[in-house]
Amino acid sequence: MIPYTPPVADMRFVLNEIAGLADLATLPGCEAASPDLVDAILDEAAKLARDVLAPLNRVGDQEGSRLENGVVRTPTGFKEAYRAYVDGGWNALPFDEAHGGQGLPFVVATAVLEMWNSANLAFALCPLLTVGAVELLQAHGSDAQKDLYLGKLVSGEWTGTMNLTEPQAGSDVGALRTRAVRADGHYLITGQKIFITYGDHDMTPNIVHLVLARLPDAPPGTRGISLFVVPKFMVNPDGSLGERNDIRAVSLEHKIGIHASPTAVLAYGDGGGAVGYLIGEENRGMEYMFTMMNNARLNVGLQGVAIGERAYQQARDFARMRIQGKPLGAARSAGPLPIIHHPDVRRMLLGMKAQTEASRALAYYVAAALDRARHEPDPAKRADQQALVDLLIPVVKAWSTDLGCEIASTGVQIHGGMGFIEETGAGQHYRDSRILPIYEGTNGVQAMDLLGRKVLRDNGTAARAFIAGMRALDTDLAAEHGDDLATIRSLLTGAIDALAEATEGLIAASAEDPAAAAAGSVAYLRVFGTVAGGWLMAKGALAAQQALRRPGTDARFNEAKLVTARYYAEQYLPGAAALLPAIAGGRTVMAFDLEAF
Ligand SMILES: Cc1cc2nc3c(=O)[nH]c(=O)nc-3n(C[C@H](O)[C@H](O)[C@H](O)COP(=O)(O)OP(=O)(O)OC[C@H]3O[C@@H](n4cnc5c(N)ncnc54)[C@H](O)[C@@H]3O)c2cc1C
Repeated sequence: MIPYTPPVADMRFVLNEIAGLADLATLPGCEAASPDLVDAILDEAAKLARDVLAPLNRVGDQEGSRLENGVVRTPTGFKEAYRAYVDGGWNALPFDEAHGGQGLPFVVATAVLEMWNSANLAFALCPLLTVGAVELLQAHGSDAQKDLYLGKLVSGEWTGTMNLTEPQAGSDVGALRTRAVRADGHYLITGQKIFITYGDHDMTPNIVHLVLARLPDAPPGTRGISLFVVPKFMVNPDGSLGERNDIRAVSLEHKIGIHASPTAVLAYGDGGGAVGYLIGEENRGMEYMFTMMNNARLNVGLQGVAIGERAYQQARDFARMRIQGKPLGAARSAGPLPIIHHPDVRRMLLGMKAQTEASRALAYYVAAALDRARHEPDPAKRADQQALVDLLIPVVKAWSTDLGCEIASTGVQIHGGMGFIEETGAGQHYRDSRILPIYEGTNGVQAMDLLGRKVLRDNGTAARAFIAGMRALDTDLAAEHGDDLATIRSLLTGAIDALAEATEGLIAASAEDPAAAAAGSVAYLRVFGTVAGGWLMAKGALAAQQALRRPGTDARFNEAKLVTARYYAEQYLPGAAALLPAIAGGRTVMAFDLEAF
């Protein structure tokens, strides 16, 4: 398998030029993010990702996690790697200092999380869920719950899980049946949860499950769901571990990818009831869980970026080694050359690179907006940034994970037949990537969220504001010279026009026929992501061109940024207008007779 080299140069570029890290670091609570510290963090994280986590990716795939006599065992090396991760203080990066965190902006942690995910997607899922659990407890836990659980979760000494899914309740979370009965100062939980990521494992002494369940007298649907914290081992008031709680991993799923990540069926209460503690108020569990889901959706989108990067590096390095034929245009005297010289292989590689960079730019941009939504002193600015985050989270989740799969598939294609053979590792990235559009709300559900909750609910206000913000870049692009930026500018203008037309068209169509509009929403989300990514690539191109005029900057890196952005604009931005009929085609979908399938 080809090693992973964290793309620290591009990460720095995106943090500085797209996420606006310098400006972010002036906000109260973000001051720790000095350029020197961020540089050091990226370099150190790169070592752990490259030297410890990435070499375990293949082992994890081949061994998988196993359930043996009721105990879940992670693959060889995972326990030690997790220890190194905790000892390095990595889990604590973005959290409040009050609970042992390092108080760094979320966007810095985002870059680091990308590295873990590229290095070893199945490993990284564990911290990804713990991060969500911390966010949730910070926002909604009682002081006592925070005191008991947060310190250990922030440090990573314990891990967190998210328990929504049941056999009959997948996308329809409101159908869940796990019961919670009031007891003396706590609740007793009984029922079965399925597909619980890292629902059990041997990497930490305790696991903190966040569980959705229903009280006997709760109203039906999502309005009757409560949220509980249910530890694997009971926690004594002094923080030490007590008895084992009534939770059992009954089986682990056999999956097509992320084999190392134990996806557990959990039985709650076989022995009479697992002890759980209510978070917040009864029947408000879905509302609280959304705190965790929003975070997780952004981070799953980031997994799409990460797998794209890994697949790209794998394909690029393979293309440099594999010798096959004489490329078109090579000198007559030349012999066979590495396939990277073939025009079509170059095309595929540049596409992988461009799409990965665009999705990275969007993910970091949204992560920085999340930081601003928390730390801007002006409440109006905070509200604007939160609206931006809410609008773009489904886009990051769905667009980036769809791209992750497509990029991983192109990676297999570049390998030719060897891509279909497991030894190269290209197949693992492809298999691992396939879950990303499914979990954390399928991409179809994300598209409905974008259209229904984020665009229609405020009658297009947030979407129009975002579109206007993208148009504002035109002045800066117009002020620059050169064919690259002129081409990007013209294609970007057309693509933004297409997004605006699609938005207005869907707002009107939804009033007439909501189902037809919903059937067009996946194409709409694709347009949204494509254009937002293109806008940020244009922003990056502008910064790269300006950097090229400054002495001492990395000319090869900045020229590559410019050409990659141009390629993205030429290759993908015309797709925005081309998808308008597909969005309107929601009507055709709904006109098709169900019996004719
Ligand atoms: C490896 C793995 C790890 C997971 N980890 C966790 C975890 O840690 N915790 C947890 O709680 N869950 C977890 N899940 C569950 C995951 O979130 C669900 O599988 C996912 O939400 C989809 O639910 P489902 O599988 O029941 O599919 P279904 O809901 O049955 O969906 C099937 C199809 O119908 C579509 N569909 C369903 N409803 C709608 C709708 N309203 N509108 C449009 N389309 C719709 C879907 O898009 C999909 O294409 C995990 C799943 C897997 C496979």
